[in-house]
Amino acid sequence: MQDKRQFYINGAWVAPKAGTDLDVIDPSTEEVCAVISLGGQADTDAAVAAAKAALPGWMHSDPALRLAAVERILALYQDHADALAQAMSLEMGAPMDLARGSQYGAGEFHIRNFIRAFEQVEFNAPLGDHAPDTRIIREAVGVCALITPWNWPMNQITLKVIPALLAGCTMVLKPSEIAPLSAHVWAEIMDKADLPPGVFNMVNGDGPGVGSQLSGHRDVDMVSFTGSTRAGIAISKNAADTLKRVHLELGGKGANIIFADADDKAVKRGVQHCFQNTGQSCNAPTRMLVERSFYEQAVEQAAEVAQATQVGPASQSGRHIGPLVSAAQYDKVQALIETGISEGARLVAGGLGRPEGINRGYFVRPTVFADVTPDMTIAREEIFGPVLSIMPFDTEDQAIAIANDTPYGLTNYVQSQDGARCNRMARQLRAGMVEMNGKSRGAGAPFGGMKQSGNGREGGIWGIEDFLEIKAVAGWDMSAE
Ligand code: NAD
Repeated sequence: MQDKRQFYINGAWVAPKAGTDLDVIDPSTEEVCAVISLGGQADTDAAVAAAKAALPGWMHSDPALRLAAVERILALYQDHADALAQAMSLEMGAPMDLARGSQYGAGEFHIRNFIRAFEQVEFNAPLGDHAPDTRIIREAVGVCALITPWNWPMNQITLKVIPALLAGCTMVLKPSEIAPLSAHVWAEIMDKADLPPGVFNMVNGDGPGVGSQLSGHRDVDMVSFTGSTRAGIAISKNAADTLKRVHLELGGKGANIIFADADDKAVKRGVQHCFQNTGQSCNAPTRMLVERSFYEQAVEQAAEVAQATQVGPASQSGRHIGPLVSAAQYDKVQALIETGISEGARLVAGGLGRPEGINRGYFVRPTVFADVTPDMTIAREEIFGPVLSIMPFDTEDQAIAIANDTPYGLTNYVQSQDGARCNRMARQLRAGMVEMNGKSRGAGAPFGGMKQSGNGREGGIWGIEDFLEIKAVAGWDMSAE
């Protein structure tokens, strides 16, 4: 069993001042695989104090120096690829190939995109030809609390730590207490990256403890959070008294609108995307809206894909899906499947309980419901498991109305070979992202949502700008530059 009861504060690994122990559970076996410490107020205060003390030096450092630090981090990240993949696979149940592939790869992808985007940041530029002595200066927001979830650990940590560093912010990372092992490897990377002490700090803890202490802390200038809408609301309220900047990446209930003229892989692609990472992605296309003339065919195809989806332990190689992250998530997903059945949706694949032949671990059956109506609980709530809801539509307007009838607005999807129709749909969907015909967003594109899916954007230039303040200076002496 791994002992990870240390925090990284002010450039050193330290013992908790006020911790209580928490077991980390391997979701494939339900066995304890590590122990961490949940910090207390004294640990939070020590980390924030270190970040505050490091801020003046780091925020006014030469941007080229910060870029060089991030280039070192990229090289170290690559050196630690195996340790990161092993840690993610163990802590949150990502099958090894997924852990080595997308889970590890997302972090590398983001770091590279930030390095490229950094060239575009204008830290000091004239307002315009009409007012050349008015300078627009971009500078760090300050001390940042970075609070991350367990579903894409390195994706979310790199999307916050790297732009914060580049912007000149100092920070305290509080990773998910459910999946803290990869964050520990990340802190080892940061230790080796030779940053000034206090620029990066990491404290483990839970939401009511370190999480709330950070969001309410008077010396924290900004919170960047990814996770549930519930926690996002709690953080916003707690941060209000100190009026800190709050950046939120929250849940989603993505619609995947499939027209009868979609390509013949559209349904399969949609189901597989919904089940990817065992359905534990905020941008998962969990509501499949199908044009009525193609509806029964689509339901049949979706059921076949679900039945062919293999489920198995994270330690194994292969294209199977792993367990859910925790007992709490298992119970939540089971309860929602039960609600789907009791509210009258037609179960066409999967259902309650574990897959056949599996009797421990948080494994669930890849599940498809047809004839879901927009008012059903499974059409409205983020399930965060491999559960797809299919419903028919008759017209474009109706598809838009159903897709937009949700408090969320993260990612929607459109499948049709009629380009003009796709573009019309993209403009009308109220979501931060729209992906059409299986195309992924390009490198450095912004990630983020509208409505209760959050605010701000992560990734690329937008991700760096989120950590910057804008200062307007009049009377800048250009001859003194
Ligand atoms: P969560 O939002 O409770 O936890 C995510 C992170 O926030 C963790 O680091 C946690 O310690 C911290 N946190 C929780 N409450 C906090 C608070 N009041 N103040 C400060 N920090 C706080 O998520 P969860 O309980 O692990 O999962 C519950 C549901 O959240 C899931 O079923 C899913 O619907 C959703 N979720 C969404 C995402 C996403 O990427 N949008 C990620 C994880 C979970």
